[in-house]
Amino acid sequence: MNNRNEEIDVLIIGAGPSGTVAAGVLNKNGVSTKIIEKQSFPRFVIGESLLPRCMDNLEKAGLLEVVKHQNFQEKFGAKFIDKSKNCDFDFSEQFSEGWGWTWQVKRAQFDQVLAQEIEKRGVPIAYNTEVTDVHFDQNGTSTTTINREDGSSDTITAKHIIDASGYGRVLPRLLQLDVPSNFPVRTSLFCHIKDLNRPTGADGNRITIVVYKQDVWIWIIPFSDNITSVGVVGSPEDINRFKGGATDQFKSWISEVPELADRFNKMDYIFEPKQITGYSSAVSKLYGDGYTLTGNSTEFLDPVFSSGVTFATESGALAAELITRTLKGENVDWETEYSEYIKRGVDVFRSFIMGWYDGTLQKIFFTKKENELMKKQICSVLAGYVWDLENPFVKQHARALKALADVL
Ligand SMILES: Cc1cc2nc3c(=O)[nH]c(=O)nc-3n(C[C@H](O)[C@H](O)[C@H](O)COP(=O)(O)OP(=O)(O)OC[C@H]3O[C@@H](n4cnc5c(N)ncnc54)[C@H](O)[C@@H]3O)c2cc1C
Repeated sequence: MNNRNEEIDVLIIGAGPSGTVAAGVLNKNGVSTKIIEKQSFPRFVIGESLLPRCMDNLEKAGLLEVVKHQNFQEKFGAKFIDKSKNCDFDFSEQFSEGWGWTWQVKRAQFDQVLAQEIEKRGVPIAYNTEVTDVHFDQNGTSTTTINREDGSSDTITAKHIIDASGYGRVLPRLLQLDVPSNFPVRTSLFCHIKDLNRPTGADGNRITIVVYKQDVWIWIIPFSDNITSVGVVGSPEDINRFKGGATDQFKSWISEVPELADRFNKMDYIFEPKQITGYSSAVSKLYGDGYTLTGNSTEFLDPVFSSGVTFATESGALAAELITRTLKGENVDWETEYSEYIKRGVDVFRSFIMGWYDGTLQKIFFTKKENELMKKQICSVLAGYVWDLENPFVKQHARALKALADVL
């Protein structure tokens, strides 16, 4: 049943971090905004390790203070392990100016905290409501069809739409903007586990990335409540090589990897292990008349350097600022100010991720010949400061990595 049409300045699809950060900025700027969210919160989503750059975006949206009160596990850096070799990055020892720490978060709680704060500020969120169709007229004004759980349906007219629908990829699907990612299909098998044998001291709470072999790695992300997220990433053939369903396969991985076995072998799983395959995605464009894509509905590369939520919040905050200016009648150059900016940052991570899987970065991380300045420059990239052109690993990312590996 189609009931009524509502009018709004900006309609946001999805209440993940990209949508709520965008809503926070728009609300601060006095723009009328509404979020449509398919699920009810709290809901599970993967992506639990943040980068320091995220703090800047939460701050812009006025959401940092509320997160500070949640007792999330603080994250001061990242540790990489390859058998007996270690590489430690400390975010307080960085080349670029910026935050020296951030958090490891269960996303169900983190996303809900952001969403509740946005609602408190007066931005309505319609939960259990799905965007099923969007039409644009010649001026870019959109008419969006929403369907509720009870079967009722309405339309919303908006001057601008932010598609922050993450893995839902609403506008890329409806407008045929999806293009193949230049990364191969990889898969991840993961779970939350009771972590009662956590090492004492800083090591126990630190995110650790374990190299199993060059293109298979494991994340260990401890939370503040003695539960830890563990995930294995690699090609579907490598990850699914053990017998049985998801739980049996996951148990086999825990026994297989020495860094996991002692700590997690006898521990309870909080839920049945989950598997996600083929998550890398890309789009032909990031904006158009009356819409902007943000977060995971743009391009998602790979989880190895935890860049997803940082890009989700960076693009959400930037889109919101540019939309505010557009609605005020200012001339915005969307190509340079939005698309090129976001793509520049994504490309830095692309070089690092490719360098990780082809072995270049592992060579650099685990060398005995560490160079202090270069380590700080690489650390800034890993902290998400990928727009600082003073940093050679940002400005000439691909070349700088290759040159350093060649020297080593
Ligand atoms: C294996 C793996 C590990 C990862 N690890 C990390 C990590 O450690 N750190 C990190 O930063 N990132 C990580 N990521 C990436 C991270 O998951 C995403 O980048 C991040 O969640 C994107 O946020 P978002 O706000 O764009 O989308 P989401 O958080 O996915 O939110 C989108 C919201 O839109 C809603 N939605 C979808 N379709 C519709 C619709 N039709 N109508 C209404 N609402 C809709 C969804 O219900 C959802 O709530 C990982 C990804 C993978 C695959």
